[in-house]
Amino acid sequence: MAKVHNWQIGREMNYPYAQAFPRRQFAFVFNINRCIACQSCTMACKSTWTFSKGQEHMWWANVETKPYGGYPQFWDAKILDLMEKANPGNQQWSGKPSDDKQKPYGQFDGKTIFEAQNMLTPDSARVLGYLPTDEEWNSPNIFEDNPVGKKGVRNELDKEGTALPEHKTWFFYLARICNHCSYPACLAACPRKAIYKRPEDGIVLIDQKECRGYRKCVEACPYKKTMYRGNTRVSEKCVACYPRVEGKDPESDGQPMETRCMAACIGQIRMQGLVKMNNDGSWAEDRYNPLYYMVKVAKVALPLYPQFGTEPNGYYIPPRWVPRDYLKQMFGPGVDAAIERYTNPDRELLAVLQLFRRSNRIIFRYEIKEGPKIYEATLRGRKVTLYNDTVIAYGQNGKEIFRTQVEEPVHVRPNKHANSI
Ligand code: SF4
Ligand code: SF4
Repeated sequence: MAKVHNWQIGREMNYPYAQAFPRRQFAFVFNINRCIACQSCTMACKSTWTFSKGQEHMWWANVETKPYGGYPQFWDAKILDLMEKANPGNQQWSGKPSDDKQKPYGQFDGKTIFEAQNMLTPDSARVLGYLPTDEEWNSPNIFEDNPVGKKGVRNELDKEGTALPEHKTWFFYLARICNHCSYPACLAACPRKAIYKRPEDGIVLIDQKECRGYRKCVEACPYKKTMYRGNTRVSEKCVACYPRVEGKDPESDGQPMETRCMAACIGQIRMQGLVKMNNDGSWAEDRYNPLYYMVKVAKVALPLYPQFGTEPNGYYIPPRWVPRDYLKQMFGPGVDAAIERYTNPDRELLAVLQLFRRSNRIIFRYEIKEGPKIYEATLRGRKVTLYNDTVIAYGQNGKEIFRTQVEEPVHVRPNKHANSI
């Protein structure tokens, strides 16, 4: 085991390989508050990559209803349970979220999946994990829209409901793809070294010729984002639509383009990009990259289960209505500050939030041009002032991709054609 620095858990941790980082890292922000579970993302991925025989059960991109749903079923509850068993009562964070770039969310003092050696068997000597059953992969959106599902019982509803402080009953949609982790558990566990992380963009891929279908990656990935294909006897996973990210899509004009699941998002919750990396694995200062701004400056978007230790590169703006303890387990100690910031956005954040899904091109930089004051009020005891600022998005080649404004334009249909646009 090597010692590597994991900034999301604020400390060094054990990992089977020495740290090595890409020049840029594939990353994304999902705003959970906006997801409507239309599954357009899911189907965009399915119809692009997993429509063949033997891939019927595969959903590289999926949207599940939390807290009861999951694909595969109970994936997070199961791995959290194993981690708790490895270190009973000590899976805790210390310190507070701060401006310290080495530990922005405080420090996770518990054991990551790479450190729970006391739970590892000779068969799974590198990473704590489990292999889901065939049945658990069966129902990608079980308990859809269900705030009162009976825990652990299939297709049965709780008769009494639950009482919680934020909402009496609640649910939210959690959209997921592979996180193209900085310390991938799938890669760490593969005895064939068939999994690799690309130096140019950090995308994690399985070499289909090298894989022998041992399923160690399926067992090790805590997010369960590698999947076994029975008819070819090899494992497969999300490829981050790498031809699009490389600018090879015929539509892209040679410029990097977002993945299919991002581009299809009806709720406009998704933004994907490529962040610049330093040699030590930290994000290079890139103040006007929208992902850098949301994750590192506004800290409104947080990693999914950072305590697993893989340093996932997917970030989420947490849902406002969900009990905070649940969210803190899922996104770490930064939840309160992130929700406060999202609920009361400043001028810059409000402008950056307009960048979601105005284009399929990857945004490398934004610029804000200040506009006039359009609204002023006191809401929930706070003074709120809105400005109609213009936000401009630029691509990798420095050219403008689009510009948009904070105030939504209103289109009035002409009387003449009442039923047409
Ligand atoms: S989410 Fe899972 S499959 Fe994807 S890189 Fe991380 S460990 Fe590997
Ligand atoms: S397309 Fe967007 S809004 Fe629809 S389910 Fe997927 S993430 Fe949610």
